[in-house]
Amino acid sequence: MADSGMDVTGRQEPGDSLADIFTRLIRNTGPISLAHYMAESNARYYNSRDPLGTGGDFITAPEISQMFGELIGLWLADMWIRAGRDERVHYVEFGPGRGTLARDALTAARRYGLTPEIHFVETSTALKAHQLELHEHAVWHADFSTVPSRGVLLVVANEFLDALPVRQLVRTAQGWRERMVGLDGDSLVAVAGDRPMDAAVPEARRDAPEGSLIETCPAAAATIFEVAGRIAQQGGAGLFFDYGHADPRLGSTMQAVRAHRKVGLFDAPGEADITAHVDFSALAPIVEARGARWLGTVEQGRWLRALGIDARAEALASFAPQHSQAIHAAKNRLTDEAQMGTLFKVMGLAAPGWPDGAGF
Ligand code: SAH
Repeated sequence: MADSGMDVTGRQEPGDSLADIFTRLIRNTGPISLAHYMAESNARYYNSRDPLGTGGDFITAPEISQMFGELIGLWLADMWIRAGRDERVHYVEFGPGRGTLARDALTAARRYGLTPEIHFVETSTALKAHQLELHEHAVWHADFSTVPSRGVLLVVANEFLDALPVRQLVRTAQGWRERMVGLDGDSLVAVAGDRPMDAAVPEARRDAPEGSLIETCPAAAATIFEVAGRIAQQGGAGLFFDYGHADPRLGSTMQAVRAHRKVGLFDAPGEADITAHVDFSALAPIVEARGARWLGTVEQGRWLRALGIDARAEALASFAPQHSQAIHAAKNRLTDEAQMGTLFKVMGLAAPGWPDGAGF
């Protein structure tokens, strides 16, 4: 198993499970933040495997059907053409998984003359190996800061923001505290920190009843801050797809998934995918504060239908009638209310002076 290289836990014996490392760290130095726990767990998790697909832990939209990536490619090409076809243009994808979305999007975009340079922001060496198979000319980045600072940016992310570490504040009898990970005997458990955190809570929420919980994702906010600032300066547009909500909520949305089933958050750190819902309502104001245009946040099903997924499914099915049933099943999975159609959202952004995006 590859090490994340991100451990802050000091000495590490070969073969130690992450649970053992956390237990030792907490015993020696006290509880750690939930954000720290999630960051280390996911770094280990993504670095050590390919979690996608039926044999893995979960499946994502680009792995369900090529139509998802194709419609994203058409959206990007449409924006780029209407904005004036700048020849210096970069496709930037965060957390590209197996590289499937990029392949489908760029194949579709190429038909309209859009052939951008390819940049991937990826921290997992295991997934980078997969991406390399499909995109030998791509450039990889450990974070967004090294993506070229000149040229139009067409930015895409699917199920990336949900993997970034969240922070939780909980209202106790003593006031607001950070939710931490501590020990009960040898077991990892959630505990309230002992430092007062009232100042970190927006005033409107400070008097919420005991037990109330506020979840934030500083890393998602920082990502949107950087991307929106660069798009505003360099020109370009972006699409962020994820499961989440478009209005603020109270309560924890953290979950761990292994082999397509939910497991306890503390059951197997580094062996399960830990995610949280994306709070899109917190991201839209950041886009605008950075001088970019927020195009909207809409349900994935609605967006895909507006982009013509029904017609695309018909075309694919008439081309390969033997796969007609599978094509329609995949379309329904991506768009139906009871499946991924409403829980998943897409947020669009663009540079000032760029056109409105289709589907928003
Ligand atoms: N977008 C792909 C994969 C989603 S899984 C799909 O839809 O199929 C999450 C992806 O984000 C993985 O590629 C993972 O390695 C990457 N990732 C997770 N945390 C990251 C981080 N902090 N920086 C860069 N990439 C990260």
